[in-house]
Amino acid sequence: NVNRKFHPEDTVVEIAGGIKIGGGNFQVIAGPCSVESEDQICLVAREVKTAGARLLRGGAFKPRTSPYAFQGMRAEGIDLLMEAKEKTGLPIVTEVMDISQLPLFENVDVIQVGARNMQNFELLKEVGHLNKPILLKRGLANTLQELLMSAEYIMAGGNEKVILCERGIRTFETATRNTLDLAAIPLLKTMTHLPIVVDPSHATGIASLVKPMAMAATAAGADGLMIEVHNNPSAALCDGAQSLTPEAFADVMEAVNLIRPLAYKG
Ligand code: PEP
Ligand code: MN
Repeated sequence: NVNRKFHPEDTVVEIAGGIKIGGGNFQVIAGPCSVESEDQICLVAREVKTAGARLLRGGAFKPRTSPYAFQGMRAEGIDLLMEAKEKTGLPIVTEVMDISQLPLFENVDVIQVGARNMQNFELLKEVGHLNKPILLKRGLANTLQELLMSAEYIMAGGNEKVILCERGIRTFETATRNTLDLAAIPLLKTMTHLPIVVDPSHATGIASLVKPMAMAATAAGADGLMIEVHNNPSAALCDGAQSLTPEAFADVMEAVNLIRPLAYKG
């Protein structure tokens, strides 16, 4: 059950390599929006590891608004993530878009269910039968209660390794890609024992806003961050405008580490 009432202790989700998230364990997930090539993913993996990220993200199956936009490298992208993991030791976080793709995710460390699939209930049931951490992103227009009910779908199948992710929601404001719901962090902490990660990249859509929102999310008590990093953002095949260079990411890590001891704990 997701409810804090029946489970007062924070859940600590154990990921591969002894990496834990939740219950005071703070982790940063970083990497490109999409895997684009062997050189790109391996280079970014090394850079984010040096800066202090403990998990590597990279999309292989991409939920793009336009069918003519880059759809991801698919199975080949998963293979390249495995190669980057072998080279750096960083566990992998990558998105599944459909149940039929799950056999390819056997060696993926954390399976991401994206915002657009937050209420794909059949997919939630299926990943609920796995013994693997699931990063569940809040839907574009979903309430916290709906997010928690989606987490409940996964847990009801026996998989209690659920990490929630606030990634911004749709509002009337169009100056930013989404509106980051910072209050969701301390509020979710009262409702549930599950760890909460914040994605300031998709929440803002603007690279210069990633640092202040990463700092704010850390101060508000997030258990981790997910940040998009690209070796050459202006040439990225997806989400370049919100992607940080490795240098900018290292600067964000420094600021976040200064704030961590001061973070709100409830
Ligand atoms: C992503 O993390 O690459 C992604 C597509 O995010 P979201 O589902 O939050 O839009
Ligand atoms: Mn993206």
